[in-house]
Amino acid sequence: MRIVIVGAGQAAASMAARLRAQGHDGPLTVLGAEPVAPYQRPPLSKAYLLGQMGLDRLVLRGPEWWQDQEIDLRLGETVTAIDRTAREVVSDRGRLAYDALALTLGAVPRRLPASVGGHLPGVHVIRTLADVDALAPAMQPDRRLIVIGGGYIGLEAAAVAR
Ligand SMILES: Cc1cc2nc3c(=O)[nH]c(=O)nc-3n(C[C@H](O)[C@H](O)[C@H](O)COP(=O)(O)OP(=O)(O)OC[C@H]3O[C@@H](n4cnc5c(N)ncnc54)[C@H](O)[C@@H]3O)c2cc1C
Repeated sequence: MRIVIVGAGQAAASMAARLRAQGHDGPLTVLGAEPVAPYQRPPLSKAYLLGQMGLDRLVLRGPEWWQDQEIDLRLGETVTAIDRTAREVVSDRGRLAYDALALTLGAVPRRLPASVGGHLPGVHVIRTLADVDALAPAMQPDRRLIVIGGGYIGLEAAAVAR
């Protein structure tokens, strides 16, 4: 059975590991839009933003693990459609057949609408490694930070900034 997992985040990494542990030895492919292997997001607004943790500790499994497990991890590839009749996923790189398909697509932060400035330079969101790599250099002494959204991630970003 050919299993395809779309979305290469924490859920995908856990699911792929569990499938192998439970004896699925057939083709297993994980497709992810981000250019990096599945990584932990929680440190992004904590130790990683503070500069106390590198990418090497953020990634959940090293490249050798994916190879050893014979899991085809395809990064930087965005799935744009599912052809359920043909049982294929369609991505920006072509088509891939599946017998079973799992969607582990995560979430995206809500941005402020462009009409109130959500698109302006200096306005960031925090979800991905790329988001935090863009934000961190802007967090400098003598600059002002406004956090919009007082949930855990906003409070953690404020604490790191302070
Ligand atoms: C800054 C931050 C701090 C957090 N802190 C905590 C914490 O302290 N404790 C806690 O329990 N949780 C925390 N969380 C939440 C936790 O990280 C998420 O619950 C977890 O990452 C969800 O994993 P996931 O695999 O479901 O989704 P994600 O990690 O979002 O992975 C989904 C992946 O799918 C990809 N994808 C989406 N659509 C497509 C497509 N069409 N084609 C290809 N790929 C696609 C995305 O690019 C993404 O890489 C935090 C999250 C963030 C952002």
